Order: sequence, then C-alpha cells, then structure tokens
Amino acid sequence: MTPITSAELFCRLTVCFASRTCARTNCPAKPIRLERQTNMSVELIKHVFEGDSGGPHLLISAGVHGDEFVPIRAVRELEQLFRKQASETIPLNGKVTLVPIVNQPAFELAHRCGPDGLDLARVCPGNPDGTTTQQAAHDLTQFIRSADYYVDLHSGGKAMSVLPLAGYVMHSNADILEKQRAMARAFGLPFIWGTSANLDGRSLSVARDANVPAIYIEYLGGAEQIEGVDELTQGCLGVMRYLGMIQGKSPLKEQEVIEDPRPGSGHMQVCNPAPMAGILNRDVELGQEVSTGDALGTVTAADNDTATVHAEQTGKVVVVREDMNVNKGDAICVIAERVGES
Ligand SMILES: [Zn+2]
Repeated sequence: MTPITSAELFCRLTVCFASRTCARTNCPAKPIRLERQTNMSVELIKHVFEGDSGGPHLLISAGVHGDEFVPIRAVRELEQLFRKQASETIPLNGKVTLVPIVNQPAFELAHRCGPDGLDLARVCPGNPDGTTTQQAAHDLTQFIRSADYYVDLHSGGKAMSVLPLAGYVMHSNADILEKQRAMARAFGLPFIWGTSANLDGRSLSVARDANVPAIYIEYLGGAEQIEGVDELTQGCLGVMRYLGMIQGKSPLKEQEVIEDPRPGSGHMQVCNPAPMAGILNRDVELGQEVSTGDALGTVTAADNDTATVHAEQTGKVVVVREDMNVNKGDAICVIAERVGES
C-alpha cells in the first residue's frame, strides 16, 4: 500500500451584495440585516485525501447551514485525522473529499442562511452567476456529481434540535436505495429515517438526480451545541469501512428504522406550525412518542393571548424547536410516522 496524498483545492467565488433582509418565505430562521455594502470573496474549501489503491470517491460535507457547528467540527476532525494518517502512511482505498463549510457567508453570520437570505438546502443545484448561496450550491452540486457516494452532515442549528439520525430519500432505483440503507446503518446513529424522494432544492436532491447514493445526518442542535463531534466522526469512518475504504469493524448498535415514502415526508420546516407569533412553552422532548391531538406546546402572544399546538401526526418526535421566540408558521416539532402500522 502506498501513502495517502493530500491536496487542498480552493474554489473562489466573487460576488457583490448590498443590504438585504432574510427572505422569510425561503429561510425559516429569524430575519437578519447586513447593514454594510461590500464586495465579498468567498472561498469554498475542500480537502482531498487519496490513496494509490483503487476504491470509491466519497464526498463528506458540513456547513450547508451556517449555524450547525458540531458537524463542521466533525469534518475538521476528519481532516486532521487523515492528515495525520497521511504522515503515518496508513492505507486508504479510493478518495475522500471533505468540505467543512459549504455556506461560508452563512457561517460568518452564525446563521442558517447567508446575507442573501436564501436557504442553501432549497436552492440546489444553484447558479454560478447567482448570489453567494446560489454559487455555493452550484459548487457543491459539481462536487456531488463527481463523487461515487455522499454524506451531508447537519444539525438543528441554533433554533431546532434533532434526534441523532441518518436519513435518505426513498430512491426509485432499488440498488441505490439499498446502498443508502446500508450507509445509514453503517453510520451507527440510533435512528434511521427514509423519506420522500420528491423534495427538490436539497443536496440530496442533486445526489438523487445524479444517481449518487447519499445520506444526510442530523445531530441535536440548539444554543448549546457541544455534543456529537466524536459520534459524527466515527459515523463517517463507519461509512468508509462499509465502502471498503479503510480497514476495521464498526461496533454493532441498536437502530430503529422508519421509512415513509409519502410525498413531502421529511420536510422539517412545515410540521406542526405555531398558529401565531409569541413565546413557546414546549411540552414534548426528542424521542417521545405522541398521538394525534396531543399537546405539543403553548404559544403566548405579546397581548397574552394563548394557543395550544396539537400534534397533527402519531409517532416519534424527531425534531423540537429550541428557540422560545416563534413566528407564525414556525415548526414546533417534527413527528416521524410509522406508515402502514396500526
Ligand atoms: Zn442543516
């Protein structure tokens, strides 16, 4: 076996943007305003590690949303690991490409969306002549199309918290779907969620259309984002073991699988919405089982008017809102339904 070689490749995006507010219809996070006018140069950085022996090309990304810090730290941890392995000549079969921060302008704002107010996970495949987010989406799209397999790391950001899970779309190609299921199992998180293949604009939509087997990962979130770097790092290594890119065995873990191919399933920003703006007092926790009609929380408006949000589904709570300050239409929680079970 020959040593891993590494290279850092930079893709430069240059844009000019003026003062803008976050487009509420596109980005579910709070409005932001960039008060200065500036010319901005954004570097989408990737780290490529390649062994001389043959094997697949795996792409791992984080920072599609700028306030998801644990996944970004995990990809940086992987980069350090492979850099160290390169110096110690540990063999790698194939090639791994790491993109720690896809949406750099959003990261600099510590916000889900960049200064253009666009959610990168809604504008894929992007536009090379568009705004920063559209350009980054375009660049990510090229990376995905050049890969054999893809893992996209997320969390709930500052506003939401998500049950640690590996997800994939219910791909119409049975072979790709089976590979995605195996990748999700290999990642080793306790919950696996297969959802609708008909959602567009996501990184996984690009992978779906390019027939690249892909999974996305979610891992907690909220204001205190400290847990999960090691689990995410180990999960990526587990996928690499499944793909035969590195040696070793992953520990067997107990995992629950829910697959829901119905159109629109897996859209986390529209479930169980707040009926009005106000302060949220949430009644449910991640992983809790709820039934249709159960109280999920109460919203109290500025004039003291209150409204209870009732569950619209029966199943497991996989996402909860951590931000107490809600706008009308903000998702309070997401419930994974066990389709076909009575
Ligand atoms: Zn995300």
